[in-house]
Parts: sequence; structure tokens; C-alpha cells
Amino acid sequence: IFNKILVAVDGSEHADRALQKAIELIQALSNKPSLTAVHVNPVMMVAEPPLGIDVDAKLNEEGHEMTEPYRQVLNPTGIQYNINYQTGDPATIICDLANSQNYDLIVMGTRGMSKMSELFLGSVSHKVIQHANCPVLTVK
Ligand code: ATP
Ligand code: MG
Ligand code: MG
Repeated sequence: IFNKILVAVDGSEHADRALQKAIELIQALSNKPSLTAVHVNPVMMVAEPPLGIDVDAKLNEEGHEMTEPYRQVLNPTGIQYNINYQTGDPATIICDLANSQNYDLIVMGTRGMSKMSELFLGSVSHKVIQHANCPVLTVK
């Protein structure tokens, strides 16, 4: 029932464990689902960038560097995967991607990089669970 699995990654230990669970799930399934790891840079432009700075190139480079550890984890698994790097509101982008590309499952952490909140569930997870059209597996 799961053919396309979307894993949301933000560099947190929760996201690492979410990716690990997704890998184990895929390896246990006989239909060999594909995996997409998505990272959204919640970039906000408050001012004009300094002259001579190519913002798109810089964001692209940052995105590539940020997602490199995930490639290192996925490469040896033999799983068919791709990395999706975007900028914008994380929950909106994750849900739009999942809904428009017909993902069957989203895997993500219950919490992320923010250590501030005392809530059990982070705001990105909360919003994705609310707005995704597919099941969401949250990993502690
Ligand atoms: P806060 O609501 O303050 O951000 P938090 O950082 O603890 O709290 P979330 O941001 O909701 O919690 O993180 C929960 C999960 O959502 C992460 O483990 C990760 O799977 C996913 N996630 C969070 N931010 C992003 C992001 N920018 N790109 C992709 N996935 C993300
Ligand atoms: Mg967060
Ligand atoms: Mg956040």
C-alpha cells in the first residue's frame, strides 16, 4: 500500500530516527517503495541581499550541504531515493508536495530542531498531520 514515501528532514535527531524507520519499513516491504527526503529552508527575506551575492546559488549550496548526510545514509541501502530541497514554509511545502505528487505516506519526527517548546508535537508535525491527504507516521 506504500509506493512513494516522503520523509521530512530538518537536521534533528528526531528526523534522523524518522529516516531510519522509513528505511527499515521500505526494506521490510516486498514492493520496494521509493523514498524522497525533503528539506525546507524557512528562509525569510527581510532586506535586499548585498550586491554581488547570488541568493539562489547560495541557497542551493546550503541545501546541498544540509542534505549531504542524508545521501550518505541512503546510498548504501540501495533504496531508490531522491532529495528535494526547497525554501518556504515547511509544513505548507511538505503537504503541497505530498498531495500533488501522490505520496502514500509521510514520515517525520514528533519534534525537530527547536528546544524551546514544551509541547509534545512540534508545529510543523502538527500542521502536516492536519493538512496532509495521506497517513503521517511520527517518530519520537
Ligand atoms: P517548532 O514548532 O518550534 O519548530 P520543533 O522544531 O521541535 O518545534 P517541528 O519543527 O514540528 O518541531 O519538527 C518536527 C518534524 O518536522 C521534524 O523531526 C522533521 O521531520 C519535520 N521538519 C521540521 N522542520 C522541517 C523543515 N524545515 N524541513 C523538513 N522537515 C521539517
Ligand atoms: Mg522546528
Ligand atoms: Mg519550526
